[in-house]
Amino acid sequence: MRYISTRGQAPALSFEEVVLTGMASDGGLYVPETIPALGHEELAAMAGLSYAEIAFRVMQPYVNGEIDDDTFRGIVEEAYATFSHDAVVPLNQLDANHFLLELFHGPTLAFKDVALQLLGRILDHFLKKRGERAVIMGATSGDTGSAAIEGCRHCDNLDIFILHPHNRVSEVQRRQMTSVLADNVFNVAIEGNFDDAQAMVKASFADQGFLEGTRLVAVNSINWARIMAQVVYYVASAVALGAPHRAVSFCVPSANFGNVFAGYIAKRMGLPVEQFIIATNANDILHRTLCDNDFSKQALKATLAPSMDIVVSSNFERLLFEAYGRDGEAVRALLERFQSEPTALAEAPLATLRESFASHSVDDATILEVIREAHHRTQEILDPHTATGYRAAERARADATTPMITLATAHPAKFAEAVVKAGFPGVPLPPHMDDLLEREERYTVLPAELSAVQAFVAENRR
Ligand SMILES: *Cc1c(COP(=O)(O)O)cnc(C)c1O
Repeated sequence: MRYISTRGQAPALSFEEVVLTGMASDGGLYVPETIPALGHEELAAMAGLSYAEIAFRVMQPYVNGEIDDDTFRGIVEEAYATFSHDAVVPLNQLDANHFLLELFHGPTLAFKDVALQLLGRILDHFLKKRGERAVIMGATSGDTGSAAIEGCRHCDNLDIFILHPHNRVSEVQRRQMTSVLADNVFNVAIEGNFDDAQAMVKASFADQGFLEGTRLVAVNSINWARIMAQVVYYVASAVALGAPHRAVSFCVPSANFGNVFAGYIAKRMGLPVEQFIIATNANDILHRTLCDNDFSKQALKATLAPSMDIVVSSNFERLLFEAYGRDGEAVRALLERFQSEPTALAEAPLATLRESFASHSVDDATILEVIREAHHRTQEILDPHTATGYRAAERARADATTPMITLATAHPAKFAEAVVKAGFPGVPLPPHMDDLLEREERYTVLPAELSAVQAFVAENRR
């Protein structure tokens, strides 16, 4: 198995190389050259297996023998032992045919833990084998930073530097990052906004001279290993509801499109999925594209579901590559046009997308209404991201007789602001985190200057 770029110009890479590399050198994203099949029999045999065992079976073809089976099994078991629920990602039945897939039982209470608990361990494995060290740099407005820190805190060969905008992330989100006191974890509060922090990370990737040869690794959602890890819960939940003998549908609160793209890969592998519903907040580029063929950027809107606040959906490029028949040149031309002007997809690829995907966009007022309504009907308090999914599943589902699985991407305690605005007294943090607000914190405040940040990274890496 090799990995190829969506823009057709970069060299094909092995699994190990693709995990250690971020974006392809031609500006594209890496995808597997062929999508491995999961046959009817193999799916049927997964019924009743543990999450870790299903994870091993689903991911093994992508790893391509580059980690031996026993070692990979160990990595997978360790990654998912950090989840507080025995089922790792339990299904919660809401009504006769609507289920929540709870992806928030990991260390930071959001679905990004599923991928990042695994990615940190895979990176560390390859670095140790090579006798190398690496530095991770990332900018965060909340979720990704804490999940990346939790995924890397035990990795001997990795140092992680996460930049967040000083005084502009919620206290819970900041403390989830700054209370991790491991020697290889460095939190930097930038005196600026998220865009300043992200610009400095991008500039550091573009010119890595300040690291004098140490590898810089990205753990954002364009890393293939994150997609691969997310394929697993689509398979596990569908099998729990009767696949391959019956089809299911999924509704996915979406932003950068990494999560729902993983579902699409599961379908391409052979999982019977009738429909994917893409739920967005008011930042609705995915909905506008699918519904009106309006593939254009619009100004960022700050919403009650902040982890879905995006202008561009980076992983959508991977789906476009499939919809355009893997024509890297066509994808490159489309995305270059998209950077500078409003554009549209060609008719045939758009029609292909509409066969598998529907979409629905949910504004802030509706998010609050949905949190109240869902509680009234099911006794569950949904987090604001999951609330977009709950509404989209009801509005856009094609067939009420097919089980609908809505992905619950965050724990409501993590986004108390929306829950309180909806009229609830708030939701307690789960027991393993109830002392979060008393824990010791460690972080460094730096000016929004590239030279200051790079000097800090260069001095502190081990
Ligand atoms: C990151 C995130 C999303 C969006 O996921 P994508 O893979 O970017 O589409 C949705 N909900 C929560 C809580 C998140 O943290």
